[in-house]
Amino acid sequence: MTQVHTFDAIIIGAGGAGLMAALHAERGTNVAVISKMYPTRSHTGTAQGGVAAPLGNMEEDRWEWYMYDTVKGGDYLVDQDAAEILARESVDAVLELEHWGLPFDRTEDGRIEQRRFGGHTRDFGKSPVMRSCKSADRTGHMILQTLYQNCIRRGIRFFDEFFVLDLILEDGIARGVAAVEIATGQTHLFLAKAVLLATGGFGRMFAVTSNAHSLSGDLVASVFRRGLPLEDMEFFQFHPTGIYKMGILLSEAARGEGGIMINGLGERFMERYAPTLLDLAPRDIISRSIDQEIRAGRGVDGKDYVYLDIRPETINRCQSAPGGKTVTAAQLEAKLPDIIEMMRVYQGIDPMKAPVPIQPTAHYAMGGIPTDCDGRVLGGSLSPVPGLFAAGECACVSVHGANRLGTNSLVDLLVFGRRSGRAMAEFCAGASPADPVAHAAEEALAELARLQRSRGPERVGALRAAMQHCMTDKVGLNRTAGGMEEALSILRDLKERYRHLGLADAGQKWNTEVLEAYELGCLLDLAEATTASALHRTESRGAHFREDFPKRDDANWLHHTLAFRAGSSGAGPVSEGIRFDRRPVSITTFQPEARVY
Ligand SMILES: Cc1cc2nc3c(=O)[nH]c(=O)nc-3n(C[C@H](O)[C@H](O)[C@H](O)COP(=O)(O)OP(=O)(O)OC[C@H]3O[C@@H](n4cnc5c(N)ncnc54)[C@H](O)[C@@H]3O)c2cc1C
Repeated sequence: MTQVHTFDAIIIGAGGAGLMAALHAERGTNVAVISKMYPTRSHTGTAQGGVAAPLGNMEEDRWEWYMYDTVKGGDYLVDQDAAEILARESVDAVLELEHWGLPFDRTEDGRIEQRRFGGHTRDFGKSPVMRSCKSADRTGHMILQTLYQNCIRRGIRFFDEFFVLDLILEDGIARGVAAVEIATGQTHLFLAKAVLLATGGFGRMFAVTSNAHSLSGDLVASVFRRGLPLEDMEFFQFHPTGIYKMGILLSEAARGEGGIMINGLGERFMERYAPTLLDLAPRDIISRSIDQEIRAGRGVDGKDYVYLDIRPETINRCQSAPGGKTVTAAQLEAKLPDIIEMMRVYQGIDPMKAPVPIQPTAHYAMGGIPTDCDGRVLGGSLSPVPGLFAAGECACVSVHGANRLGTNSLVDLLVFGRRSGRAMAEFCAGASPADPVAHAAEEALAELARLQRSRGPERVGALRAAMQHCMTDKVGLNRTAGGMEEALSILRDLKERYRHLGLADAGQKWNTEVLEAYELGCLLDLAEATTASALHRTESRGAHFREDFPKRDDANWLHHTLAFRAGSSGAGPVSEGIRFDRRPVSITTFQPEARVY
């Protein structure tokens, strides 16, 4: 028997966005947070470099400069009304966390210390500015712990290690979710007046990625399967400095503290591509520059990687530390303890003595579930779906446009997490109590049961690896029509094979095998939506680079993409084709211009 729970509001996801929303929705609203992982294991906890806010603690800074950087960084596909909110409210959001007890690094006079990050500048692009607030290179960990402890203090209800399978939508209204308790296999229905999706990214569709194994976009896929649109799925960010072959992230903070990149000839190649910001240019530009170096045969030993060099002697010789100051190994070890440790452990290299091999790694989904600036999910007609909210990486507000700046995700979680939490509480105050539902996610439960019984010849691991390699090879940094058409055909074939999986574990308790299979189905749908959207957009902008259309084309493409799954809704992946619509970009202040850095 499925267990039924009723709340005013439920939040799916216990990362930064979900917890921030919970803390702001909680006053006067009966809220529960549901998470497939123990909350403090959410990916937010791995964020390293920092959270942006123009506090001006180290040098002059202004929210207008920050807004400009965000819009230009996003290659003008950013909604400027949302970017203005982000830039203005970031200060208050960061101070709220400080008051809740977050141990930020401090200046000598006790203020929050800040560092430089890619694409963040003073005076509309003149030079890098110190805007990232941080706790060494463990900023996300500190944010997540602070938020979680405050949730516990306020007595917010948590359902940990409950896997949400599907959203319940009745007559176009969000009514709750269906979930399975991982420890027991027991199914649960959570009914609510309002549902907030805060389930993070879906980088696991790629082979080389910085993303945790859990980032499979389950609820983004559910929204898509329910006939609602996904926005700007073609824009997936590749972070320049992933550990070679492993994809594990080495934060941009390394370059913020003065680190540089060099090619196989020992050249500081960013001088060629971004003469003003150099190694602190936005990520799309740096990743593509690395790729160009490698293609020109200037990778290290002619191979497909370049070096990240954070040796103090290099930084001091290049005068690349903030303010051209000299740095010592001890100072770098204090500012970047975790990533230095990762280089030592995973690469076997001491970065104080030698440069380390890096390559771009799939990192961040700019696209996702379309929302307004209060987290309300927008449906097909771009009007809000009653009771449905989304925030964090799974949502597309859109403050990141075609390319997100470093440190702008954590601040997005804070600013739009709290706005959506408040909007949800307001919605609940005016809504009637959650009613029982007539058709409660029967399809999702049936799909789970089907998977659990499946005894076919195909294996989850093999299909997943095939999808990931297909996406990295054909829908990665460089895209062509031919490659993406091939990718679509491979993905559709994988979906067909997915119908014939064979699972070994027929048990109910801790059956992670069936959940991994379910996650793969979600990823296959999102990989298809990403590929089809990328094929659809015949221009290059931000992270989306088409070799066959290498220029930005504002006349035809200065708008957001909306992808819909054609045909009826269901719970498993199907290939019924995808249709497209568009959403205008909000341009309030900054007209599109060439992106020179
Ligand atoms: C290695 C790394 C370093 C980063 N560094 C930075 C940085 O320095 N600065 C910055 O701004 N950004 C950084 N980012 C990006 C940023 O950390 C993420 O975009 C952000 O933390 C996402 O937060 P979120 O709240 O949206 O989701 P997450 O923190 O990913 O949490 C998702 C939650 O959803 C839950 N969930 C998912 N699916 C289900 C389901 N089916 N059922 C139930 N629960 C579910 C999970 O259990 C989890 O609690 C980094 C990202 C990575 C990967």
